[in-house]
Amino acid sequence: MITVAVYDTKPYDRVSLQKAAKDAEIQWRFLDFRLMAETAPSAAGSDAVCVFVHDPLDRRCLEALAGQGVKLVVLRCAGFNNVDLVAAKELKIAVTRAADYSPYAVAEHAVALLLTLNRKIHRAYNRVRDQNFALAGLVGFDLHGKTAGILGTGKIGKIAAGILKGFGMRVLAYDTFPQADWAKSCGVEYVDIDVLARESDVLSLHLPLTPKTKFIIHRGTLDLMKAGAILINVSRGKLVDTAALIDALKSGKLGGVALDVYEEEEGVFYEDLSGMVLQDDELARLLVFPNVLVTAHQAFLTEEALSDISRVTVENIMALAEGRPFVKGTVLE
Ligand code: NAD
Repeated sequence: MITVAVYDTKPYDRVSLQKAAKDAEIQWRFLDFRLMAETAPSAAGSDAVCVFVHDPLDRRCLEALAGQGVKLVVLRCAGFNNVDLVAAKELKIAVTRAADYSPYAVAEHAVALLLTLNRKIHRAYNRVRDQNFALAGLVGFDLHGKTAGILGTGKIGKIAAGILKGFGMRVLAYDTFPQADWAKSCGVEYVDIDVLARESDVLSLHLPLTPKTKFIIHRGTLDLMKAGAILINVSRGKLVDTAALIDALKSGKLGGVALDVYEEEEGVFYEDLSGMVLQDDELARLLVFPNVLVTAHQAFLTEEALSDISRVTVENIMALAEGRPFVKGTVLE
């Protein structure tokens, strides 16, 4: 029997992990708080820990885990910017992630946000429920014939590009590793990042957070963007300089902003803070713009994605238990 402490557990995690485990000999310890240096003693007696996007696994936390005999960190997400991989390697803790779960879930959420924001569905929904059937202020624009910019053409960016092509948009892209064959077959054109910012009516971010991509959308990029353009970020909050974004919104330059992620989301997203005083002034400011739509990091949240994540998580836990290699492509070094 292998023991796994699961941190930041939500009801859907519990259901889908237990379903994926079937009869596997896994002793789950579901914990609803996050793993960090201060909470690491709670991993005592566990062979592995299973974490999500907001568990900061810095050196101190990993040292505490190693001291308790934890051999494996299983990320039940794709992004891994929250783990100090150098420290993990030194401490001989293996780290795996859910690299390949449904990229459709995330790309489709980006498009859902775009359609909602552009056609003001969020505002129309509230109006109609209040028996306000007026249309003033709800004018959007046709996506057909407009230009979409995809920043990052990995698994998710490529799917988003394909969906937007389906709307009849011209699709431009930027990536440090452009995929010429894919672009040719889909009618997507790679351009440099300034051209992408300048020409896009809709700019959608599909990049990992790394030291190079932090604030890839900064004041200069926002200045380059078309008046009235829409910015979508379903990747990582720190890709966008929020202070600069708020200025661009206040000036009326941007047509709309949809965020599934936010620069300082840790400790806020995934929590029910209703009835409490929001302490983050930038988030509070973002929430009052009529042309800003925020969801709390839920782009991954489909049945298919949860089941893919749980399957690979269980496979990697059982690989540790049975001394087998981890699932190909999921090990982080
Ligand atoms: P991926 O690794 O398949 O693709 C990332 C792409 O970004 C690659 O093509 C890479 O070359 C490109 N890239 C990296 N650094 C770059 C740079 N400096 N400039 C330009 N391009 C660069 O990843 P993916 O599966 O498509 O996921 C993208 C990101 O989406 C993840 O890293 C994660 O942060 C985020 N994500 C969010 C959610 C959510 O629920 N909101 C869910 C899954 C993933």
